[in-house]
Amino acid sequence: MSETEREVIASALSSLDLEAHLAPYAVHSSHSRGRRFQETPPAARTEFQRDRDRIVHSKAFRRLEYKTQVFVNHEGDLFRTRLTHSLEVAQIARSVARNLRLNEDLVEAISLAHDLGHTPFGHAGQDALNECMRDHVGFEHNLQSLYVVDQLEEHYGAFDGLNLCFETREGILKHCSPENACRLGDLGERFLKGQQPSLEAQIANVADEIAYNNHDVDDGLRSGLITLEQLSEVSLWYVHFEAARAEYPDIEGRRLIHETIRRIINTLIVDLIEQTSRNLARVQPRSLDDVRHAPTLVAHSEEIAAQAATLKRFLFRNLYRHYRVMRMANKARRVVTGLFHAFSDDPRLLPPAYQARQPAAEEAANDAPGTARGTSQARLIAHYIAGMTDRYALKEYRRLFVIDDN
Ligand code: MG
Repeated sequence: MSETEREVIASALSSLDLEAHLAPYAVHSSHSRGRRFQETPPAARTEFQRDRDRIVHSKAFRRLEYKTQVFVNHEGDLFRTRLTHSLEVAQIARSVARNLRLNEDLVEAISLAHDLGHTPFGHAGQDALNECMRDHVGFEHNLQSLYVVDQLEEHYGAFDGLNLCFETREGILKHCSPENACRLGDLGERFLKGQQPSLEAQIANVADEIAYNNHDVDDGLRSGLITLEQLSEVSLWYVHFEAARAEYPDIEGRRLIHETIRRIINTLIVDLIEQTSRNLARVQPRSLDDVRHAPTLVAHSEEIAAQAATLKRFLFRNLYRHYRVMRMANKARRVVTGLFHAFSDDPRLLPPAYQARQPAAEEAANDAPGTARGTSQARLIAHYIAGMTDRYALKEYRRLFVIDDN
């Protein structure tokens, strides 16, 4: 390619506005509050597309394949993992964003990154690690996702982490304790001021719920832990199950379940778009700043919100508290707690790369005077454990506690 041809292509790419169609209150990548380390603007893609691409190429993203939500990874090949969950969240969030003229690339980046900090073994693992970290500001998976993208990925020559845009990082940090918000500077500000994140972040948040409520029903039925009979008490399920049966009287089993679930997902997405459009028409934000000062705008209608809440309560009672799930959670707790205490009692058991790792300055500052690397050492161990996949955690547990394993 000649120099002239190259210049023509470069100028065409730089003048191509990939975000010209967005609403004025959407996040435009050209108005981003930027990255922690300044970089040359990307060619042929927007800043948020670059964020999404960095997330997809990260090590933490690949690990999601072997981390679970409710079921442990080795229980069956067809259950959701954190990876397939994240892809489903991205699909739902993009559909909603596109219809509302919001930034699809940003919602995709947030959705794909939102669970990067999850521990092995789903919520049981996170609760156990939080308990272990009780004396060290605790463990929050949202904050851990931020640690992953800000510090833990080792991909680039110029910086630690993925150096993502402010708006992507803000979307990843869904919840945050006031104590942690104070330490996070500009990113923690909104929690202290009671402001909203972007509409894109709000969408990723609701898409997460839509995805897990539906796939947990699907996986729950597949595992036999919940039954169709039990589900008939849930109106959101029942209405769509009957509609699917009316349209296809001859189908049954998995096909009928899927026909029901696709209707529920569609209903939730369409309702979310419609109610959010009504909220936008009422509040009339003219900029991202207006969105930040408004109440939460991305929301379901009252009727659908109530139905979704009933489904959620059903899952809590019948699936998440099922004795077989509780047994697995109990094992998970023992593995995570056992690992944490073994490494805390003797940090020489950590792999050399972790022993050599220097804590971030802001964590070292948390160490109580006179204690040698107390909090920062605990945080380092939490990083190591949180990064483990389910099977790696089990393997590491055996290596440490079973005499014949090494
Ligand atoms: Mg999630």
